[in-house]
Amino acid sequence: MKIYNTLTRKKEEFVPIDKNEIKIYVCGPTVYNYFHIGNARPFVVFDTLRKYLEYRGENVKFVQNFTDVDDKIINKAREEGVAAGEVSEKYIEEYYKDAAALNVKKASVHPKVTENMDQIIAFVKDLVDLGYAYEVDGDVYYSTRKFKDYGKLSGQNIEDLESGARIEVGDKKKDPLDFALWKARKTDDEIAWESPWGMGRPGWHIECSTMSKRYLGDTIDIHAGGQDLTFPHHENEVAQSEAHSGKQFANYWMHNGYITIDNEKMSKSKGNFFTVRDILKDYDGEVIRFFLLSGHYRNPINFSDTLMEQAKNGLARMQNAKSNLKHLISTCEGAMTEEEKKTIEGFDKYRQEFITAMDDDLNTADAISAVFELITAINTAVKDGASKEFAEKALEILMELTAVLGLLQHDEEEGGIDDDIQALVDERQEARKNKNFARADEIRDMLKERGITLKDTPQGVQIIKE
Ligand SMILES: [Zn+2]
Repeated sequence: MKIYNTLTRKKEEFVPIDKNEIKIYVCGPTVYNYFHIGNARPFVVFDTLRKYLEYRGENVKFVQNFTDVDDKIINKAREEGVAAGEVSEKYIEEYYKDAAALNVKKASVHPKVTENMDQIIAFVKDLVDLGYAYEVDGDVYYSTRKFKDYGKLSGQNIEDLESGARIEVGDKKKDPLDFALWKARKTDDEIAWESPWGMGRPGWHIECSTMSKRYLGDTIDIHAGGQDLTFPHHENEVAQSEAHSGKQFANYWMHNGYITIDNEKMSKSKGNFFTVRDILKDYDGEVIRFFLLSGHYRNPINFSDTLMEQAKNGLARMQNAKSNLKHLISTCEGAMTEEEKKTIEGFDKYRQEFITAMDDDLNTADAISAVFELITAINTAVKDGASKEFAEKALEILMELTAVLGLLQHDEEEGGIDDDIQALVDERQEARKNKNFARADEIRDMLKERGITLKDTPQGVQIIKE
């Protein structure tokens, strides 16, 4: 598989350090709110990377943290008059719900800052001892200039960075490029931990260096996240981790592109800010997932009603292919004919196209096209009926490929037909038998309004959900 590596700015062959366990770290959410569509993109994209590697037979250790100590959490807790831990615990639970709706698998480990405080303090202390960090009045700062390779990930040199940096009023750091590893407590009601520098809490960047090391080791295979994290967050992680271990931190860095809303940058102040929880009121989680995978992960993607409707239609086409095959399986009989066997063998072409696309830097857009080509071929093959075995084999390959994308996993979407709908379908069949076509048409229209299309096939009536 080839991966575009932000560090080298090249597409490179992916070679894991240990073939028996691929180590991936993805920066997780700051848990003070429901996550928005922009946050959802890295969760879905890198979950798809993991699913694909597992599909190729790899064993993946996947770590995604929860930032549960942060100014935003502290502020929200103050507003609501509750403890910071109450806010973070709530939104961790809400994260799991929305991630599940998007078919994002739980990470192998979801470490939290609050559960890694001893390790974080030890890491900061090591950096001080190694001469890469210094203390001022209970704050600890990283001496950016001491790290010779600073800027290598984001492709900037230290002079350019310096001209853009300035020391704010109240800053205690010696150099504008330095950043906080530990922050002294400012008020008594602020959540804080005991440390060699007094009561305080960690800066943001140090948590990922610490947790990546603790759960995956000094050098990992892939570190991933949104493009907006490249600088300064990931650049600072590199500086901390490589100064600490003297080894390369991550061999491959993957970054997904931005999401715009109706071609504008998403921002709370513009009011064009959508949480996944909100979008789930209008669309199934798989539609959101389909939308997020419909473009290449490195390209910007625009969130709009038009594109969501397109995603909905695209997913419906996949769902209809699945329910069509299920219908054939329940109504047809027999083993494959010689011709059908050849057709099934021919479907391997689409599997290979799918793999080629995914091997090319996780090109999910082309992988989805390969699935649609497969669906067209399946539809052509079963147009005049099929054997039960053929329908089973065709469903198998369809599910094999869509599972890698995390699609067609919601069984209730196409399988479960509500009792009242089934009753109407039965009544319509009865009406048709009795040549009461007016009533039959009436029922058909009623179902149509509820997003149900009925298709009369030689094997009986098929129920298609929109
Ligand atoms: Zn991070």
